[in-house]
Amino acid sequence: MPAKIISGNAVAKSIRNDCKERISALGRRAGVVPGLAVVLVGDSAPSRVYVRKKLHAAQEVGIVAHLFEFPSNVAPEAVLAKIDELNADPRVHGILVQLPLPPQFSIFEVLHRISRDKDVDGFHLYNVGGLVVGDTIFPPCTPFGVMKILEHENIPIEGQNVVIVGASNIVGKPMALMMMQAGATVAVCHAKTRDLAQFTILADILVVAAGVPGLILPQMVKTGCVVVDVGINRLADGRIVGDVDFEGVVKKASYITPVPGGVGPMTVTMLLSNTITAAEKSTMAPI
Ligand code: NAP
Repeated sequence: MPAKIISGNAVAKSIRNDCKERISALGRRAGVVPGLAVVLVGDSAPSRVYVRKKLHAAQEVGIVAHLFEFPSNVAPEAVLAKIDELNADPRVHGILVQLPLPPQFSIFEVLHRISRDKDVDGFHLYNVGGLVVGDTIFPPCTPFGVMKILEHENIPIEGQNVVIVGASNIVGKPMALMMMQAGATVAVCHAKTRDLAQFTILADILVVAAGVPGLILPQMVKTGCVVVDVGINRLADGRIVGDVDFEGVVKKASYITPVPGGVGPMTVTMLLSNTITAAEKSTMAPI
């Protein structure tokens, strides 16, 4: 039997409805409207598309979202000064700096300048540390979205073999930590992994985030495996595909996420959820 194709759009829609309810409750309880500030440096077309989607989704659920744009040759100090200003602004609960940044920037300096209480992307060292010990406030949005997809489909994680292909700071590594926290046995593969298939074949749950179209072939997955394809690749003919040979793997897996329409909508949705969490926390007395 072919796999169930999980609609990330449907899961995202249900979480966005929850987001609207949380915003209404916050307004009634504390008179607070969540605010998101997005900082965009340069004029990369993909970054513009991502930022437009985030702003639109935020406004759609009732988050007040503002865009702050800088030219690609801006001095880093100007962007850091804007972050300081946003850190101090009580109307702003979440700050997101769209990556990548031009070469004159130190990404770590920029990410660590964001207040840890407004770090809705979850990239500040404080939040990364929280992830390591299982006590993070803002889980990074893409792996958080993967966890929510599995939860929505009632797919158990505890005791499962989870194989993650890709070890980046924004997807693979935090994904591994979240899966470990949920009780999985985790293997993380990357570009230097010898014989990728010997790992992927063991997976009960396979999460792929390498950015290589067609990387995962049907013979590399176990029958009945759950396959989550995080990859987003634009082919020469303009088609958007993931990292998994969807047509082949769908025949062997039990569940699979499509590209587009799988993890992508969840990433933006978890950004909204983290921004609302930040606003909710801002109304609570510090412990
Ligand atoms: P990245 O920073 O380029 O990292 C890619 C990772 O994959 C690296 O760890 C790399 O290994 C590994 N890798 C590359 N080629 C491989 C191969 N042939 N076999 C095994 N591992 C390989 O990318 P990223 O930012 O994590 O993004 C990964 C993919 O997910 C991209 O397609 C991106 O567009 C997509 N993405 C989607 C979403 C979403 O919302 N759906 C969000 C973020 C990213 P090394 O560490 O050894 O170099």
